[in-house]
Amino acid sequence: MYLYLFNMADKKTKIEELYENEKSRGFVNHLIHAYLPLYKVTKVWVFEDKKPVHKCSICGQNLIDIETVFQRVAKSKEFAGEFVDQLRKDLDGKPVKYEDRFMVKHITQGAVMAWTGEKTTTHLCQQCVQDLLNMVQTGIIMGDKNINYQVNKMRRNTFFESFTSSPSLNPTEIKVVENIQEKVEKAPQHKATFGDLEVLQQLKKKMEDEEAKKQLKTGENIPFESSKTVKISKKEKS
Ligand SMILES: [Zn+2]
Repeated sequence: MYLYLFNMADKKTKIEELYENEKSRGFVNHLIHAYLPLYKVTKVWVFEDKKPVHKCSICGQNLIDIETVFQRVAKSKEFAGEFVDQLRKDLDGKPVKYEDRFMVKHITQGAVMAWTGEKTTTHLCQQCVQDLLNMVQTGIIMGDKNINYQVNKMRRNTFFESFTSSPSLNPTEIKVVENIQEKVEKAPQHKATFGDLEVLQQLKKKMEDEEAKKQLKTGENIPFESSKTVKISKKEKS
């Protein structure tokens, strides 16, 4: 209850505003699936599209990619004198306006680092990634129906993807898994039938067996089976 009151008193973040608006809730759901869990979030090395300007899809802040930062750092050497001037002012305790600071003027130009997720064309600033994560965490704690549904759906997707992305299964087996996933999504409690669970169990066993075979072939995970030990045991026998 204390947590609830605390959250109510806080000023709403942009992502919370978008989430509360029915028209943009679908978009927020897309972001939840694209940016969570956090391993999906990566810095943008280079913007794939050729758009001249990139903005955070949530707050509208200007964004920059890593390649541009490198290019501008290389170019900024021409203005090294300005950097020395700024250092001198900093040391003397003289204020330098934000937009006149070397880093802002020549490198970031007021933009912040761009981040992106999986299966999305959106880009976010770091603050909005954090706000999105916080909103989902609070939603889980508060029992927000939609957020819980999205998170559970994400868990199911990850579970089924471990099958459908496995090189150990053939196209027919993957199709079988996809059909089961479709059935589960439509089922009232999103539960698989006993028969389907058995099928998944068998496929999982197949995947594990194939994985074990591969490790035997490459000799991975068998650190003690060196040629020496084999020779010694042969001698003992003879
Ligand atoms: Zn943002």
